[in-house]
Amino acid sequence: MTIQHSISLKAYNSFGIDATAEYFTELKHLDTLQEIAADEKLPKLKVVLGGGSNVLLTKPVAGLVIHNSLNGITIKDENENHVWVEVMAGEVWHGFVEYALTNNLSGIENLALIPGRVGAAPMQNIGAYGVEVRDTIDQVTAWHWAEKRFIVMRNEDCDFGYRESIFKHFLKDKVLITSVTFRLNKKPNLHLEYGAIQTQLEAMGVSSPTIKSVAEAVMSIRRSKLPDPALIGNAGSFFKNPTINKQQFDLLKEQFPNIPSYPVASDQVKVPAGWLIEQSGWKGFRRHDAGVHVKQALVLVNYGKASGSEIQNLAIEIIESVQSKFDILLSMEVNIW
Ligand code: FAD
Ligand code: NAP
Repeated sequence: MTIQHSISLKAYNSFGIDATAEYFTELKHLDTLQEIAADEKLPKLKVVLGGGSNVLLTKPVAGLVIHNSLNGITIKDENENHVWVEVMAGEVWHGFVEYALTNNLSGIENLALIPGRVGAAPMQNIGAYGVEVRDTIDQVTAWHWAEKRFIVMRNEDCDFGYRESIFKHFLKDKVLITSVTFRLNKKPNLHLEYGAIQTQLEAMGVSSPTIKSVAEAVMSIRRSKLPDPALIGNAGSFFKNPTINKQQFDLLKEQFPNIPSYPVASDQVKVPAGWLIEQSGWKGFRRHDAGVHVKQALVLVNYGKASGSEIQNLAIEIIESVQSKFDILLSMEVNIW
């Protein structure tokens, strides 16, 4: 294993923030985890970085940053309906989606083009266009730093919720996910309920959708709407969509008749955070190099030289302004380091 000192993480995070890691190493082999754990000279704090597409670096990282480059995809089992595939955590997420499409395996086509690595997918239970990764995760294998051993967590042990899991809370910085085993479907089970997918498929002239055409529709919508981190620094949606009770929503609806909502339970609705932020006047806002994207108010951007704290402070201002206008408290989706 090679340990480097004082490394800039600018190239390792999609916001393009120039913060340093006190120590840095590339993880390519599972055996290295034992070596790292046994090395008393290394800092106690060990943090994992995948594609860096869901972190905001607000200060130098005092500890060992482990860049996950564990690679490999293996079929573990199959039956008439399903295939179980173990994917090492350093594999690029979209590369795995392409693998599934090539092998005609369904379940993750709506999650095409989400940036990042496979190991981070269970962390916030990635989701898009009506599908969440928890629907296909069978089990997660992780290295437990304090216990110095690998643990296996079944789907039901992961406490998956909307952009949530046990890895984001109770097990935060305690484990490093080394692989994820997915249960993919041999027979397609298409999710077309998000209106934009239907419209896009029609625009593409597709009348009998397949997993490939659904993935193409998703990719096409994403390319047209979302800023490309290679061109402008961002970490996707900065905030989660809040869920509020129906009573509060009905009162808001009297004041703001156009407020959009989606039911999540009989007495609860989800309100798109992007709409709340836009109505609070932030869409396209820019202060120095920190801003709110011109096309999508849910995405905060770095126009070049913004610091992580400038972006964090902007996020706090947005939260306060949405709260004072709508009495809804937004929470951040991005992991603040
Ligand atoms: P990182 O940013 O490297 O890490 C995120 C967090 O997970 C960190 O706290 C890190 O310590 C932890 N972590 C990473 N790997 C491991 C591991 N192996 N073990 C333990 N902890 C780990 N997200 C969605 O859910 N849906 C979307 O549609 C979506 N679209 C996006 C679009 C754009 C343009 C961008 C920039 C981001 C988008 N995201 C979306 C957010 C992001 O891509 C996902 O959250 C992704 O899973 C992050 O992967 P990563 O490897 O970059 O994670
Ligand atoms: P959109 O289609 O403009 O919709 C705005 C919001 O309304 C979305 O956030 C979505 O919530 C919700 N929504 C729309 N149609 C819905 C339906 N039929 N049922 C329930 N909820 C619905 O959103 P967008 O910004 O272009 O993003 C499209 C998808 O990609 C969304 O699922 C979004 O979560 C995902 N995405 C995520 C990130 C990220 O960083 N997390 C970044 C880009 C895109 P949900 O977000 O709960 O689905």
